[in-house]
Amino acid sequence: MNTQAPHPLERTLRTPADLAAAGLIAPEDVPGVTAVSARYATAIPAALARLIAGGAPEIARQFVPDARELNTAPEETADPIGDARHSPVKGVVHRYPDRVLLMPTLTCAVYCRFCFRRESVGPSGALTPSELAGALDYIRAKPAIWEVILTGGDPLVLSARRIGAIIAALDAIPHVRIIRIHSRVPVADPDRIDDALIAALKRTKKAVYVAVHCNHATELTCKVIAACARLSDCGFPLLAQSVLLKGVNDSVGALEELFRALVAARVKPYYLHQLDYAPGTSHFRVPLEQGRALVRGLRGRLSGLAQPTYILDIPGGVGKVPVTAEYLSPEGDGAYIVQDSEDGRHFYPPAAPQREDISLA
Ligand SMILES: *Cc1c(COP(=O)(O)O)cnc(C)c1O
Ligand code: SF4
Repeated sequence: MNTQAPHPLERTLRTPADLAAAGLIAPEDVPGVTAVSARYATAIPAALARLIAGGAPEIARQFVPDARELNTAPEETADPIGDARHSPVKGVVHRYPDRVLLMPTLTCAVYCRFCFRRESVGPSGALTPSELAGALDYIRAKPAIWEVILTGGDPLVLSARRIGAIIAALDAIPHVRIIRIHSRVPVADPDRIDDALIAALKRTKKAVYVAVHCNHATELTCKVIAACARLSDCGFPLLAQSVLLKGVNDSVGALEELFRALVAARVKPYYLHQLDYAPGTSHFRVPLEQGRALVRGLRGRLSGLAQPTYILDIPGGVGKVPVTAEYLSPEGDGAYIVQDSEDGRHFYPPAAPQREDISLA
């Protein structure tokens, strides 16, 4: 009988001690990481921990807590895209007439250190059955809702039984025609894309799109590619959402490699997100001007299939606009005036000077 604890790289790492035991942080970083983990949720599932242990700095940077997360820049806010302003009932964000976000849980398989909802995500975030029923009632009562986007948190951390129940409930609402699932699970824990999950997603004949969050080509391991292939073979069109991140994918070469790898895995790059002004993320921020130059560098060099829309969520809950001259006018010093889709004009602050060298540890 084997009574030993599992090897540190065979289970999800959640504490600074776990991270140190697995060799993902140095012993002298434990105090700084402890302060960060007390503030923001931490979890690194085995598949990603093994990639990091094998030497993948772009992966480590996205998931290993860092003392710089305790530096909040003046332009950073707890609810950068204004979810709260547009939440009519718990678990629903309704900003655009034809589509809503439904967040059945705020738990994730892995916690990205740059998350735009980092102030609300965490391990105890599931809706209660009556809250979920209330959210579904809201959707049922609004015939203008054509699409429901399951997000969170990560909806695919729920059991197949609970996911299947949500899909079946949405299937029964005639005006809901499209279900979209935003998830990091295919990358973070590809083993979860199993028969039970596929059966749960098949509890409707409506279109079910899966938008995978993926920021670096290294994330697309054989297992991840196999998980994507399985979803695709089962009839679920795949999209990718990526976030432009300093030190992860802020070069034309890294973006080109990522988008080519996604298309080859039958995943269509959908959005490249400008990083939102979430607290403690300034060490990840690529200024808009530099992002625009990178995206220009991809044009002409890369198949149209592999070109996502570079997108900005206007701070405060105004909505998303493409990062193009049509929507943005420079105000000098990195600031912009952003025009929304209804001709409202909004000030977009410049990124604070980067504090790359400052450590609070
Ligand atoms: C991003 C977002 C959506 C989806 O926008 P698309 O442009 O359709 O991908 C919907 N609702 C809210 C509140 C959002 O933040
Ligand atoms: S998976 Fe999404 S919601 Fe969860 S921490 Fe990462 S970015 Fe945030």
